[in-house]
Amino acid sequence: MSSKKAPNKKPSARPAQNQKPAPAAAATAEALPPPRKGMGPIQVVRGMRDLLPADQHYWRRVNQLSDEVASSYGFERIDTPLVEETALFVRGVGRSTDIVEKELYSWETPGGENVALRPEGTASAVRAYVQHGMLNLPQPVKLWYTGPMFRYDRPQAGRFRQFFQLGFEVLGDADPVIDAQLIIIGWNYLKALGIDATVRVNSLGTPESRANYKNALVAYFRSKKTKLSEDDKRRLLKNPLRLLDSKDPAIQEMKAEAPQIVDWLDEDSKAHFMRVLEYLDEVGVPYQLDPYLVRGLDYYTKTVFEWYANGEDQELAQSALGGGGRYDGLVEQLGGRPTPAAGFSFGLDRVVSRIKDTQPSSTIGYKSEVFIAQLGDMGRKKALALYEEFRAANIPVCEAFSKSNIKQQMEIANRHGSKWVVVIGQKETLDGTAIIRDMEAGSQEIVDGKKVVHEIKKKLGRITNGE
Ligand code: AMP
Repeated sequence: MSSKKAPNKKPSARPAQNQKPAPAAAATAEALPPPRKGMGPIQVVRGMRDLLPADQHYWRRVNQLSDEVASSYGFERIDTPLVEETALFVRGVGRSTDIVEKELYSWETPGGENVALRPEGTASAVRAYVQHGMLNLPQPVKLWYTGPMFRYDRPQAGRFRQFFQLGFEVLGDADPVIDAQLIIIGWNYLKALGIDATVRVNSLGTPESRANYKNALVAYFRSKKTKLSEDDKRRLLKNPLRLLDSKDPAIQEMKAEAPQIVDWLDEDSKAHFMRVLEYLDEVGVPYQLDPYLVRGLDYYTKTVFEWYANGEDQELAQSALGGGGRYDGLVEQLGGRPTPAAGFSFGLDRVVSRIKDTQPSSTIGYKSEVFIAQLGDMGRKKALALYEEFRAANIPVCEAFSKSNIKQQMEIANRHGSKWVVVIGQKETLDGTAIIRDMEAGSQEIVDGKKVVHEIKKKLGRITNGE
């Protein structure tokens, strides 16, 4: 989504091409900023944010599903460092992309290395593939990753300076079935999260057909130069495809008459694209052809795609949940032997925000079928020990040990969605018993205090009555 940019304020992060040595004394006291004026509380850095406990259950769901989907399609997890050599992104993502030109957090280390916080995951995955000789493994190699990315982007709704991506990469295979399957994986992922989305697809062809198309585009927009803003004139010179992404209404209007890339595709790319669409039709994945979809990273060839949430929310509808495509030249560009590859990533912040907006939940994150309630000092002690018994038996339990009011505890049990509440009061500690309350039926029974875990196991169907 780097392709869809509002004009940027001058970033204070140093642009990659312009790497003057940072103070070598970065680690010494002189390099520390002066003390802040006033004693107000320090706030989170602009564009960064805390993922608070109340939202963690959304993130847990999204992350668990990532793991499940990746394994079920035969992807293996890779974790690459947050910091890479700046050159990786300059060479990988492209020098004249917004990501490298304006958005890279890069600096020189005290040891003189030019490094950057990763703005995306593909370049790192490719670097690792080459560095660790994965070219010699049976191909294709299927990798997935998830983690924070950093872009000195202009903060706004759905756009942060630290954001999370989930990425899938397939290296070492040129077949269009790979492109189609990546789209299918993304579609299934969103569907499993209850997100109604559409994938837009296009083909950028080979670098040659793309270059021819670029020339045609430049000629077209040159003929309309007087109507272009200064920013767009600059784009026309540096990265004309990005004009197609412009939100400027004048460009939108001009686009309608602009040449379309499909008319410039070489035969091989055309056939490849047709196959991708045929595979999608076969599986019944709905897609929209978007002749102006170009994406903001230079490495794409042939198929490109982006997911958009369906719905009324214009803001969300305009910002992609994720995107990807084929990048047949990237491995070679990063020093490996020519290797076709394709991949995509989701912006998880946007995925989570979509789930939150469309599927609000009033329950608190941690859900457990069993809650342990207590009354009085003795009851609390017994309950504390019982909690450990449940944990040892691998049965998730909840509690509110700091509360002494039973009504409050029952309310909390409800919010955790607990069906069974074990109550231990003064009387039960003296009798060596416990009460098990069925919250749905409103009934309760008294059981032997030593057999509480066993009784609950039976109720949860973990053991049969005969055992
Ligand atoms: P890209 O690597 O630019 O293709 O982006 C892939 C996905 O990452 C986008 O579709 C967004 O969902 C997400 N993304 C990109 N930049 C940001 C950002 N600054 N803040 C939040 N999400 C982002």
